[in-house]
Amino acid sequence: MANDPKPDPTDLSRLRIVLVGTQHPGNIGSAARAMKTMGLSRLFLVAPEKAPNHESAALAAGADDVLAAATIVPTLTEALSDCRLVLGCTARSRRVQLEQHDPREAAGRLLAEAAGGAEVALVFGRERTGLENEELQLCHAAVHIPANPDYSSLNLAAAVQVLAYELRMSALAAAPAAAAPVRDDPPASHAQLEGFFTQLGETLDAIDFHKGRAPESAMRKLRRLYLRAELDEREVRLLRGILADAERMAMLAGQRR
Ligand code: SAH
Repeated sequence: MANDPKPDPTDLSRLRIVLVGTQHPGNIGSAARAMKTMGLSRLFLVAPEKAPNHESAALAAGADDVLAAATIVPTLTEALSDCRLVLGCTARSRRVQLEQHDPREAAGRLLAEAAGGAEVALVFGRERTGLENEELQLCHAAVHIPANPDYSSLNLAAAVQVLAYELRMSALAAAPAAAAPVRDDPPASHAQLEGFFTQLGETLDAIDFHKGRAPESAMRKLRRLYLRAELDEREVRLLRGILADAERMAMLAGQRR
């Protein structure tokens, strides 16, 4: 914030909880309640199967204000476009190819980033099927509650409660997670990173990097690599400049042939 130069590591107001494709409106209400008990208020709903209704209101109990203020958007990308750190919660630990945190680590990382002034998001999946791989790919890292490996899937609102609790504990701690080091340039936004990944895909095609192989596996690895690097805006511009030159050279080489 422009008029709040001192990082506040206890500030949860830059954090949004994003529920993707929720199937039971009751769970939306229970999640709102779980959030409010822990001091969280910003709820985003991505294409819920049913809009919040009387069941949601009943289970929200006194958290109907959080429910009423919820933002409903059609796609996950829209829910995340201004976020600089996105963590995705998954009940399936082994199948995820992302860096993985437990809830405590996740809370520390989210608060540290938010204290540096960034918008941050914590994403939860559908009751039956969780988050799709493409949705997890939009996240910088995965969060797994280390539950019973034989029965690791918590109810959606229960998972929200565990994460909200850890966020609160982290915010209350006497020595809360250190604020992210002040950077010269702001970390790249979700939209800027997606623009970079699109250009990277096009450049790899232009220089015939894949040589007939399916591009998905390489792109997945490259996404992981670049997301881990937590690029700032200037770094994204630099990389995109390199890609533009590579594409130009590929075009010239094509003309010479
Ligand atoms: N059957 C689904 C489970 C969905 S539970 C699956 O296999 O993925 C609904 C949501 O709650 C999940 O998408 C996830 O965001 C969250 N969740 C449930 N259990 C979790 C766990 N152990 N760790 C992290 N998130 C969990």
